[in-house]
Amino acid sequence: MEAGRGAAEVKPASVMSQIKRTIKYEADRTPGFGQEVMETPGCEKLKDCIQCGTCSGVCPLSIYMDYSPRQIIALTRAGFKDEVLGSLTIWLCASCYCCSVNCPQEIGITDIMYELKQRAIREGRYPKRFPIPVLAQEFTKMVRKNGRVSEGLLASKVFLKTDPAAVMGMSKLGLGLMKTGRFSLKPEKMKGHAEVKEIMREVEENNPGGQG
Ligand code: SF4
Ligand code: SF4
Repeated sequence: MEAGRGAAEVKPASVMSQIKRTIKYEADRTPGFGQEVMETPGCEKLKDCIQCGTCSGVCPLSIYMDYSPRQIIALTRAGFKDEVLGSLTIWLCASCYCCSVNCPQEIGITDIMYELKQRAIREGRYPKRFPIPVLAQEFTKMVRKNGRVSEGLLASKVFLKTDPAAVMGMSKLGLGLMKTGRFSLKPEKMKGHAEVKEIMREVEENNPGGQG
């Protein structure tokens, strides 16, 4: 075999784009971020983490996460805002509370994950086209507007915003289900939806960290 033949088939630019710095510098921190999170009700005990790793060990989804729950706690406390708010971990968290009930320091890890999700949405820092944050926002918008969720409409909106090609692929099935009345794009409104809107406004005013 000719020397270097295989290597010539690799595009140097694509290889270079995969090389990333893996250690964090002091300059990567956002001063005050950890403190801000710790001042949020439910997140105060973040400072008590002893980095034992129990949360990562019991988390059923940690094998899919880019940072383990233990790492998210450490990065948050140390102020690595970009890494935390841009992570997939906070969106993969299924709120099962397994970490929180097993933490020897009784840290509300699940509540911290919620707080980080809310911050990521508020600051537009979530991974774009990732379905979970898009679903959370569309769900909230729909409930605020109509007082309830119309499942078909919600699913369509999420697919259109995250994977439009999939909508085209499913259009035949969707049309078939619409004909039989099992799928609808019609928004459903509940009676008194204006009251729901008012309740949500009150909640959001009293919790500026909410999804808005
Ligand atoms: S289980 Fe609790 S103390 Fe241990 S690493 Fe996780 S958050 Fe920290
Ligand atoms: S609440 Fe989230 S982070 Fe904690 S164990 Fe469950 S999925 Fe993992």
